[in-house]
Amino acid sequence: MHLSTDYLVVGAGLSGLAFADSLITHDPEAELVVVDRRTQPGGHWADVYPFVRLHSPSAYYGVDSMPLGSNRIDVDGPNAGLYERATATELQTYFADVVEKLAATGRVRVLLGHENLDDGHLRDLATGEVHELEVRRRVVDAGYLEVSVPATHTPSFDIADDASFVPVHLLGDHVESSSYTVLGAGKTGVDAVLWLLDHDVDPERIRWVRPREAWFMDRARFQPLDLAVDSLEGFAADAHAGATAKDQDDLLGLLEDAGRLTRLDPTIPATMWRGAMLNDHELQRARTVTDVVRLGRVRRLERDRIVLDQGEVPTGGALHIDCTAHGLRNAPPTPIFADGRIVLQQVRHKTPPYNAALLGFVEAKRDDDETKNRLCPPNHYTVGVDEWARTVARTWRTEGSWRTEPDLQAWVAGTRLNLLASLPQHLGSERAQQALARYVGHVGDAVANLERIAAGS
Ligand SMILES: Cc1cc2nc3c(=O)[nH]c(=O)nc-3n(C[C@H](O)[C@H](O)[C@H](O)COP(=O)(O)OP(=O)(O)OC[C@H]3O[C@@H](n4cnc5c(N)ncnc54)[C@H](O)[C@@H]3O)c2cc1C
Repeated sequence: MHLSTDYLVVGAGLSGLAFADSLITHDPEAELVVVDRRTQPGGHWADVYPFVRLHSPSAYYGVDSMPLGSNRIDVDGPNAGLYERATATELQTYFADVVEKLAATGRVRVLLGHENLDDGHLRDLATGEVHELEVRRRVVDAGYLEVSVPATHTPSFDIADDASFVPVHLLGDHVESSSYTVLGAGKTGVDAVLWLLDHDVDPERIRWVRPREAWFMDRARFQPLDLAVDSLEGFAADAHAGATAKDQDDLLGLLEDAGRLTRLDPTIPATMWRGAMLNDHELQRARTVTDVVRLGRVRRLERDRIVLDQGEVPTGGALHIDCTAHGLRNAPPTPIFADGRIVLQQVRHKTPPYNAALLGFVEAKRDDDETKNRLCPPNHYTVGVDEWARTVARTWRTEGSWRTEPDLQAWVAGTRLNLLASLPQHLGSERAQQALARYVGHVGDAVANLERIAAGS
């Protein structure tokens, strides 16, 4: 088979689909082929643990042209008072619908179960057939930050054949163990702990291996629509901390005092910041597990002992739950727009759907790569909190540079992927005006001060 297209998008995960959706909306001529090795769309969401949910609200996740969920505020349960968050099954259905919608335009062809060979050819992974593909404009790399999840990754430590070990997505089948050890300090580790607690496992039967501590963001301050003022207050707190912090330690202290960053154990220094969100309810429950092993990373898991960087502990017969996959890859930054190529990366920090759709818009609406790269410099996705200053300053500096780009500003104001899109409807309240004044009053100084702090860290 010989195919010909304007754009080849490599990756039918959230990023590839959000880019494709945005590009065909804003460029009425563009034709795309989207290819993915997986046989289902949605990227890593096809392989997640069944009890995962978005950590952020559905209202600003997905592709721009198709809402996800019904913009409902949960009235009960652990997310009460906050906007709904899609489950894995809802996300899988959603991405299947997105593919159907894109295909119905007649301008997008999605080839699942196909691998891009990077030499003008695609391989059908079911049949082994290789197809020639002519790309008239660009290849879009939507797998540069490809996600790694426990179901598909290879753990970075040795596992003895007789060790008691499961990846987190198989947890349900093994719930009858007398005790459990959760491996991993990130959001997946928190989810595994909460799942065990939800299934009436006593916290004393849970041990938690946390090689390093993570910072989490408070979901209550990343709310869209009717709760957008809560988010604005959060950003105002960021701007205040950014403008007034003396150094990196002071910055973290201010952010923690303002509730912008939070950690499981406030007595232990935390270094990791992947951008995962928790609410207070989840945080308090996770804190009930107090048997925490802090001896570095696991090197080897055996039936009777765990060997770690800085020592070993007996397993006590526990079932070990793997939550150690790294999530989004922190690949080095590279220009997003280059000859014949687009490499999807972050522009605004920690918002993959917004970034992918933004890049689709800019590709459609600007002519030359110099302008596109000026408007959308890559904002390196990193996992260390020492990068908070750099990455937040870069977001604000970049978005500030859009002041002279009315169509881009209009896109930002109108996209449902922008969590503050509804803010203008709420600016009548005194609370909103105070938050806005605080934000505007500090953000300029914050950029300069955060860049100074970043240069020193
Ligand atoms: C558990 C979890 C929860 C998350 N929750 C949120 C959240 O609530 N909110 C939020 O904003 N973000 C969240 N994230 C971040 C999340 O990673 C992104 O939102 C998004 O799903 C990432 O999509 P992606 O398309 O960039 O990557 P992926 O999902 O990794 O998709 C990349 C795709 O590219 C394909 N591919 C790569 N190379 C090739 C090739 N050569 N040929 C063919 N196909 C190829 C891969 O098969 C893969 O399917 C979460 C991440 C994780 C791990």
